[in-house]
Amino acid sequence: MSIRNILIHPDPRLKKVTAPVASIDDDLRRLADDMLETMYDAPGIGLAAPQVGVMRRVIVMDCEKDAEATAQPMVLINPEVIWTSEETSVYEEGCLSIPEQYAEVQRPAGVEVSWTDLSGKLQRERFDGLWATCVQHEIDHLDGKLFIDYLGPLKRQMITRKMQKLKREMARG
Ligand code: ZN
Repeated sequence: MSIRNILIHPDPRLKKVTAPVASIDDDLRRLADDMLETMYDAPGIGLAAPQVGVMRRVIVMDCEKDAEATAQPMVLINPEVIWTSEETSVYEEGCLSIPEQYAEVQRPAGVEVSWTDLSGKLQRERFDGLWATCVQHEIDHLDGKLFIDYLGPLKRQMITRKMQKLKREMARG
């Protein structure tokens, strides 16, 4: 396993719609392992393949925040939201591609998602609470959408300018 480089907004690859995974092979298993390691190292609770520059429909997540509890790593291939609750909830969201910027986003409080797991089995599960927010945030990445796209234009531009500045500083070393 290895830690991959996380792309920082703005980056054209974070704005693209990604392609479905056609087959689960060694490359995909390695990608999933690397994404989990990269997510835990960051640390974060979710990561989507385009954030590491791979334009495929793969996300990983683990929203178990209690350090005492066992890790609950999940790998979702070709995930799809198939039902959303009418009830909404608001969470302060952040993103590993937009470091240290947080904003409240309103989304459906519960979602049902279908996906293919690493063994090729079709799965279907209902998510609530933080898991629901996280899975929607990560699936958005597969469609080139970021949490700041839910904010007003002024707030979004302010965050984007901060990220451009951060990227210039990182480039200088
Ligand atoms: Zn994100």
